[in-house]
Amino acid sequence: MTTARVIIFEQPGGPEVLKLEHREVGEPGPGQVRIRQQACGLNYIDIYQRSGVYPMALPHALGMEAAGIVEAVGDGVTHLRTGDRVAYAAAPPGAYCDLRVMSAAQVCRLPDGIDLRTGAAMMLQGLTVQYLFHRTVPLKAGDTVLFHAAAGGVGLIACQWARASGIRLIGTAGTDEKCALALEHGADAAINYEREDFAARVRDLTNGRGVDVVMDSIGAATFERSLDCLRPVGMLISFGNASGKVPPFDLGILGAKGSLQITRPTLFSHIAQHDTCQQMAAQLFGMVESGKVKILIGQEFGLEDVANAHRQMEARATTGSSILLC
Ligand code: NDP
Repeated sequence: MTTARVIIFEQPGGPEVLKLEHREVGEPGPGQVRIRQQACGLNYIDIYQRSGVYPMALPHALGMEAAGIVEAVGDGVTHLRTGDRVAYAAAPPGAYCDLRVMSAAQVCRLPDGIDLRTGAAMMLQGLTVQYLFHRTVPLKAGDTVLFHAAAGGVGLIACQWARASGIRLIGTAGTDEKCALALEHGADAAINYEREDFAARVRDLTNGRGVDVVMDSIGAATFERSLDCLRPVGMLISFGNASGKVPPFDLGILGAKGSLQITRPTLFSHIAQHDTCQQMAAQLFGMVESGKVKILIGQEFGLEDVANAHRQMEARATTGSSILLC
């Protein structure tokens, strides 16, 4: 038995509910690995879970992503060995810790060119961009996408992925500095949606046509105006709710605005199968190793400083990806 430092919470609430606990960790069972973690990724889903937007059985550990070294391998695991450098995005929550036994299915061996901090910062957000661009709607070079929160963790990866794929990405962000960052990372245009009517700007930028796809992780605050940005039969991918959940709406609105399509996906259905997850990760690793996508780690915190990290994310004070160092 070895002791792990683990972040848990016992009731939903603000960042102050997060607690550091010491827990015994044993040997991996069949299909599992034990990972000595060096860094954990922070994601907005952690805030939905902590605050009760996505209810969980409590008490529970938190965190969906990390990177480290494999310390022990259970029976039946064939794709990993002791000593491998690995990273993962995976349910159930429990990645905010320095030592973990978990299912090996979504754990991926990192290529030599990707360090552990980058691995921890990129898996969940990068795999999300992979499924948004390749597994949700058939996007092709020349298509135009509106992407909200384009200077965030998912956002900066999306800007670069779009540029590498010949897709025109119009980004939105909450400050002029964030807009500049999105442009530096490959956005074709950037709109400060705190100051400007983004739907009107999108019409201007597309000569009145509208975009093919909107990728909206803001939710309540942007939903209706996001629909107004689409061309006829365009697709809204609603994949998050940073401003609150999209309220119930009349389906007829989709017809009235031009036979629009809508989907509400989650990464975890796309990575549920081991083979698919490993293939998606291989494409992500290729994008990063080729230099087409660079992972910006905008913020680093100690594991024990996790509450401060959550405060900064909720205050919209972060750019790019954020990690906890174990
Ligand atoms: P980000 O780094 O993008 O942080 C969230 C950003 O949302 C903020 O920085 C802010 O950018 C913007 N925002 C707008 N309104 C608000 C608000 N009221 N409160 C807080 N933030 C606001 O986070 P991630 O990269 O981790 O995730 C981006 C989004 O994608 C999240 O909504 C997340 O839930 C979603 N997601 C969904 C997945 C899925 O499979 N469904 C998987 C991964 C992420 P600005 O100041 O520029 O507006």
